[in-house]
Formats: sequence, structure tokens, C-alpha cells
Amino acid sequence: SMNTTTDDKTIVKDYFNATGFDRWRRIYGDGDVNKVQKDIRLGHQQTIDTVVAWLKADENLANLSICDAGCGVGSLSLPLAQEGAKIFASDISEKMVTEAQERAQKTLKEASNVTFAVQDLESLTGNYHTVICLDVLIHYPTEDAAKMINHLASLAENRLILSFAPKTLCLTLLKKIGEFFPGPSKTTRAYQHKEKDIIKILEDNGFSIQRKDMTSTRFYYSRILEAVKE
Ligand code: SAM
Repeated sequence: SMNTTTDDKTIVKDYFNATGFDRWRRIYGDGDVNKVQKDIRLGHQQTIDTVVAWLKADENLANLSICDAGCGVGSLSLPLAQEGAKIFASDISEKMVTEAQERAQKTLKEASNVTFAVQDLESLTGNYHTVICLDVLIHYPTEDAAKMINHLASLAENRLILSFAPKTLCLTLLKKIGEFFPGPSKTTRAYQHKEKDIIKILEDNGFSIQRKDMTSTRFYYSRILEAVKE
């Protein structure tokens, strides 16, 4: 429902402006972290590397307009900007965006091909050749995922790339078992999605799946789908 969306979003936004910011900035960095966080860091980097490799393989990255929705600290935006793509990166968390901007200043020096904004992805407008949204669907309950993907699809002229934690029997069991053990503190709810549900939403928007990948490490799981307009 509308209220669920609002509540979940407020919780997610507050989390990524406070404890979630500290936790994820460290995971998405290169300093010392614990073993679980190190595993998640490596898994996430693998997801980023997969997407960057797909885009580089197409050999058309220079000046390609890309929207990175829910950009976090810029883990994807920065390498793509380095390749010359025109990036619009946004995140609901002001802290995340500020961190991304600082990292951009350090790694990209005077590059002007990346623009940052603090924005809920549902309020994004404009048209981009490619829209990418990595590891954000984990914050969306199933009933809100379709609306979110429909909106991103409306911004994508050619391609939409999504990643999400897949809902499989195996992972559901692992998660249940995990609840009996003390693990990393989970301050927000984590929503997994059935791959067939996500594919159906993409197809309903006139997209078809072109490339797929799966990152799985001990504590990190992410299904990556590249969907192109038919
Ligand atoms: N996409 C980045 C990456 O892969 O490095 C960050 C992934 S992080 C797990 C999830 C990010 O999604 C957080 O930075 C969070 O603030 C952002 N986020 C969650 N809900 C959002 C929304 N409705 N609009 C924009 N960003 C959102």
C-alpha cells in the first residue's frame, strides 16, 4: 500500500543517512572491515565489475547517457564516468551523495561528465540511453517493486539494468537458518524477489532480457539482468 511505501522509504532514507551510511561507506571502501563485510565488499565489487565489463564490451560508452538510480557512494558511476559516459547519479540519501561527490573529486579530478543529485528514484525525470539500478530492490517489498521498475523503464530509451537478491528456496532456508545465529545487524528489512516476477515486469514494459549474471559469495547474492527495449 501507499503507507507501506512511505514508511519503508522513510526508514531506508534515515538508515542511509545514519548507521547505514557508516556501515555501507566502509563496506564500499577499502579500509579494514570484518570478515562478513569483506565478503559483501568483494561480492558487490563483482556485481559492479560485471556491469562495467558488459558496457565496455559494447564499445559505445563514450558520451552514452546513463542514469545510475540509487548510486550509493558512486561505486558504479565513477568507473563508468572514467570511460567517458555521461552520468546522472542520484540517491535518496544525502550522505551517500556527498560521499559519492567526494570520491568523484578524488578519482575523476576535473571530469564534468558526472552529475549528482539527492533524489528519490521515483521522482526522477528525463530520458537516458541506459538506466541502471543496482542492489536497491532489496529495499522494496514485492508489491512496490513493479511501480518502481515501471518508472525506471519510462526513463530508459534503450536499456535497463537491474540487480536484486533472488528469492530462491535455498536462500530462503539460509536466511531462516541465519536468523538463529548472531550476524551483522540488519537495521532495515531485506526483500528478495523472484526472478520470474522481475522478468515479467520488464517484459510488460516492452523489454527483453539480453544478458544475465549472478554474483554469489558467502553472504552476498545478486542476480543481474540487462533488459533491452524491443
Ligand atoms: N547502487 C549502489 C551500489 O550498487 O553501489 C548502492 C547500493 S546500496 C545497497 C542501496 C542504495 O539505495 C542506498 O544508497 C540507498 O540510499 C539507496 N536507495 C534506497 N531506496 C531508494 C530510493 N527510493 N530512491 C533512491 N535511492 C534509494
